Amino acid sequence: MSEERMLEHALPELAEARGDLQKLTMRESVVRFYARHEARLNNAVQTSSQALACEAGCSYCCRQFEVVAHPFEVFEVQAYVTKHFTPEQLRSVMERATRNVNERKAATEADRLTLRPTCPFLVNHSCSVYAARPSVCRNYHSTDKDNCQKAFEDPFSTWPNTYADEVFHTAMGSAAGFKKAVEELGLDTRAYHLSAAFLEAMRSPDSAKRFKSGKRAFLKATTSSFEEGSGS
Ligand code: SF4
Repeated sequence: MSEERMLEHALPELAEARGDLQKLTMRESVVRFYARHEARLNNAVQTSSQALACEAGCSYCCRQFEVVAHPFEVFEVQAYVTKHFTPEQLRSVMERATRNVNERKAATEADRLTLRPTCPFLVNHSCSVYAARPSVCRNYHSTDKDNCQKAFEDPFSTWPNTYADEVFHTAMGSAAGFKKAVEELGLDTRAYHLSAAFLEAMRSPDSAKRFKSGKRAFLKATTSSFEEGSGS
């Protein structure tokens, strides 16, 4: 990955995000960031010389590793679920998230490397929170579905590296720009495991209060070193 190419997309986003975060709420700013992010990605996809293999109904990347999300993204998922899910859907997603958390807790460090948890928001091979999905879910664009399948089926494999280069740099840069602007406000930008963080957000209104006051948003949810963040 080229840092220089990432910065090309990170710096414009950082400037836009700083402006938004000064005058808008965090949620309004996140919604505007996602719109800019999608526009940048669409543009990169259209101008890329690499054909994408991603298609509706393919969900290997939702069943590879446990998804991580920053608190500002977790609260967006929580708001979406609270607004759109029926009580039955809510009960089911809470159950699936709890199962993921328990499975992770019961696993040894070595076992965790080979866990292939299905994201609790995946329903019939589709994302049930698509409009509010975290940026990590928006960022990966594969050029080889077979490689994604292989990475899913081989428990010792690493993440497939058949990504579309320009789309990947655009995505990583744009997401890093927004995260940096949140970090500059002294807010928690750790990357939490989504299942656990979502459950905590749903069960404890204090997590949002802690986030707003610059503290660690989630006390029980584990964080990932896969994508670093910061916070006090
Ligand atoms: S939030 Fe949606 S897109 Fe992201 S891993 Fe879960 S089901 Fe897939």
